[in-house]
Amino acid sequence: MEIEGSLIEQISQIVGADRVLIDAARLDEVSWDALSDGRLHPLRRPQAALPLCVVLPAATAEVREIVIRANAAKVPVVPFGGGSGLMGGAVSLSPGIVLDLRRMDRVLEVDSEARLARVQAGIVLEALQNRLNESRLILGHDPWTLPVATVGGAISTNSLGYRGGKYGSMGDQVLGLEVVLPNGEILRTRSVEKSSTGISLKHLFIGGEGCFGIVTEATLRVFPAPEKRSLCGFSFASFEQGFRAVEKIWSCGLSPALLDFGDGVDNYPERALLYLGFEGVAKIVEAEEALALAICGEAGGDALDHHAAENFWRERHVIAYHFMQNRRHRRERSAETGRRDWIHVALPASRVLAFRKEAIDILSRRGVCLQESGLWTQPELFSMRLAVENADGDQGQWLLEEAVDELLRLVQKMGGSMEYCHGVGVKLAALMAGEHGYGLEVMRQIKRVLDPGNIMNPGKLGL
Ligand SMILES: Cc1cc2nc3c(=O)[nH]c(=O)nc-3n(C[C@H](O)[C@H](O)[C@H](O)COP(=O)(O)OP(=O)(O)OC[C@H]3O[C@@H](n4cnc5c(N)ncnc54)[C@H](O)[C@@H]3O)c2cc1C
Repeated sequence: MEIEGSLIEQISQIVGADRVLIDAARLDEVSWDALSDGRLHPLRRPQAALPLCVVLPAATAEVREIVIRANAAKVPVVPFGGGSGLMGGAVSLSPGIVLDLRRMDRVLEVDSEARLARVQAGIVLEALQNRLNESRLILGHDPWTLPVATVGGAISTNSLGYRGGKYGSMGDQVLGLEVVLPNGEILRTRSVEKSSTGISLKHLFIGGEGCFGIVTEATLRVFPAPEKRSLCGFSFASFEQGFRAVEKIWSCGLSPALLDFGDGVDNYPERALLYLGFEGVAKIVEAEEALALAICGEAGGDALDHHAAENFWRERHVIAYHFMQNRRHRRERSAETGRRDWIHVALPASRVLAFRKEAIDILSRRGVCLQESGLWTQPELFSMRLAVENADGDQGQWLLEEAVDELLRLVQKMGGSMEYCHGVGVKLAALMAGEHGYGLEVMRQIKRVLDPGNIMNPGKLGL
């Protein structure tokens, strides 16, 4: 207790006492992210702990000083952005320091000519987008959680958004990073489009979940505001029929900015719906849309009313506002609303239908219900929403999570990846050996070299 008291005292001297919070409600709020208890295997529920304190640094130099003190005291540091991560990457597993980066929210530079923006890592994506609007630029990253997720959190989970088909994942948009390493050194990678001067160090932190260092600044590629955006929707008689249309769209060279396809959707339980969006230079958008319309028509798709696609696009961030309003009760709510889970996996497009078929067999054998299956962004990225309806408590959770494990292991066996955008956190840590083989040992060795005291977000990524 003495060491901890003196550490809090030292940190207060670095950032000011008003930016070191120790009240129980605040500590509880940042001790957990958006992972629902109901999505954890009963055998793998982590022992969460109340942090010692939450610190709100405003500058890289402050982050560095805090990390040096934490390292000396061997106290864990958990970086925290919007807290919207779905895998428990920001969960506190032992009493430590939560670094809430949302005070580091400045836009440091927008260079319209070079199409880049340099920002502090705690800026919320929507705030950055609003600032870019002034320069007729857009962020290529537009997830459901645009109003809550931060640039640092999105980089650290290598998140994917609605415009991913055109602009890629968050990591694809990172030109350069500034990172505070566990020993307090500051690493700055060059902010350039391409470089052939050794391995790319920024990729240690893209998807790194804060285990190798704290991202304090990012230089991002930004894009010209599209001259035109077009949206359209189709319904298909079956998942397979719609899938073939999506496959054709991509294999003929089209890459729609928005692609959302799935069956089991509320208003159309018997059909599979596809929403497509194209954006950019008007003439190109018109040609892309005409080609996509022809492909979907030939594949047997019925065009939806234009308003359906417009509504879909307009309401895409509503879920994030619900999340923000209800976040304090999230853990309790997830326990009440029954057992549901999702998988978001990446597979070669040629194996998606075979995987789906085998997955349906596994689920029916295990008594787990498939509520929805779909594609996001491109035919390789496949998701399923699963539920257990007639089993209570741990029994339902056990059934569900055993099924999820079997599906994810099947994905790995078929040459795919068990998760394409939400990260690993604590939820998928036990499956990392199957995902990476000896690669996990390589990650562990890198972690040991950079962070011998294991203070940086310990227990995540299976490290
Ligand atoms: C309703 C809902 C919808 C969602 N929709 C999407 C979606 O469309 N696409 C998608 O990809 N994800 C989605 N997510 C998941 C989540 O929004 C993303 O993972 C997001 O990128 C997390 O950002 P955050 O700022 O909230 O990070 P946090 O949850 O705070 O942190 C995520 C991880 O990054 C680490 N971290 C945070 N900041 C830093 C930093 N500066 N340096 C180093 N490490 C750091 C944390 O320790 C943690 O491991 C959704 C979540 C919810 C609840």
